[in-house]
Amino acid sequence: MNTDKSEKLYTKALKFMPGGVNSPVRAFKNVGRTPLFIEKAEGDKIYDADGNQFIDYVCSWGPNILGHANPAVIEAVKKSCDSGLTFGACHKGEIELAELIQKHIPSMEMLRLVNSGTEAVMSAVRAARGFTHRDKIIKFEGCYHGHSDGLLVKGGSGLLTNSIPDSAGVPKGYTETTLLAKYNNRQSVEELFENNRGEIACVLVEPCAANMGVVPPEEGFLQFLRDITKENGALLIFDEVITGFRLSLGGAQQYYGVTPDMTTLGKIVGGGMPLAAYGGKREVMECVAPLGSVYQAGTLSGNPVAVAAGLAMLRELESSPEIYDELDRKSAKIESAMKKAGMNVNRAGSLLTAFFTDAAVKDYDSAKTADTKRYAEYFSYLLENGIYTAPSQFEAMFVSAAHSDEDIEKTCETIMNFKFSG
Ligand SMILES: *Cc1c(COP(=O)(O)O)cnc(C)c1O
Repeated sequence: MNTDKSEKLYTKALKFMPGGVNSPVRAFKNVGRTPLFIEKAEGDKIYDADGNQFIDYVCSWGPNILGHANPAVIEAVKKSCDSGLTFGACHKGEIELAELIQKHIPSMEMLRLVNSGTEAVMSAVRAARGFTHRDKIIKFEGCYHGHSDGLLVKGGSGLLTNSIPDSAGVPKGYTETTLLAKYNNRQSVEELFENNRGEIACVLVEPCAANMGVVPPEEGFLQFLRDITKENGALLIFDEVITGFRLSLGGAQQYYGVTPDMTTLGKIVGGGMPLAAYGGKREVMECVAPLGSVYQAGTLSGNPVAVAAGLAMLRELESSPEIYDELDRKSAKIESAMKKAGMNVNRAGSLLTAFFTDAAVKDYDSAKTADTKRYAEYFSYLLENGIYTAPSQFEAMFVSAAHSDEDIEKTCETIMNFKFSG
């Protein structure tokens, strides 16, 4: 594989951006390689600056559930551009998107459109604190909720990959109110509620964890969280930035049948543009300005071009609900190939991770037992055989509706032929 052009671009990028990238995991650091520079993407393929092509299972980390450059989404964006890129004022598309989101995720009785998943979660937590008049929150080790100060504690993926236990630049006080529980561990949650009676504003959770590799909730775990938050007057927030519109049209809450008080969305909801959302119970959202005293705003929030992309994406998904069964079937094929190759796989719908450990991965501690050197070898093998996956053990493999049966077949064969060098 010739990567001369990518190498040259990378050398130049290093001069201008920390690590040559605009988001750390892209740097390929943990797989001991330099990043590929992507020139274009279409369907299930991406193409780099040297003309190499890959079957892509990163799918921009989730948004591209219909594959790259979906024609309906591209068309909607082009059309919207002709009317101007931003108004900083109300427009009809915002209502249409909010209505469509609410139709599929009815627990979002009211919602706000924002620009990134980070912003959505940060704002949801603020609203939960404002509503309950409590400061403390519970999050889980290995769950990622964006890079806002208070949530950068044992945050999974990027942090796990780069072994940053925490981030520099976050004052101690900012995370003092962030209490840590263990995923799939009821006792760890019960203890925090016992020791902080009447002080916990919310429990924030990825309803299916996907930022320490894929770690599905064990039977009854989400319902347990639903019950304990209710008993203690705390809110339950599902961070569905990855799972929303992926596990089902109604997200993880529909897939697992547990309804949270608040939900955050990102990735798919923006159709590939910078758009995210948070929302939930009417009485909670009525605390947000200008109705209430919880402040949150955004120059580009509800941006018409991003809204057009999100609308087109959700309408496509709505008009072809059979894709969820298709995604499941394709992902199950890959899972089965991995198992045949002796790998330890976790899967929920079209999210899957092969963990290079013998341990059953059910939380952050067991995820960390994975051998990242082995993962790096596996990653390089796939890449050199035309398959692009996440450059980190602690990420999901994303399957899209655009993955052809032929490419899935090719992927399965490649996986089954993998052998460790050592
Ligand atoms: C990606 C992600 C975020 C952050 O979203 P950004 O758009 O990258 O800021 C938050 N929560 C979860 C669960 C995510 O996967």
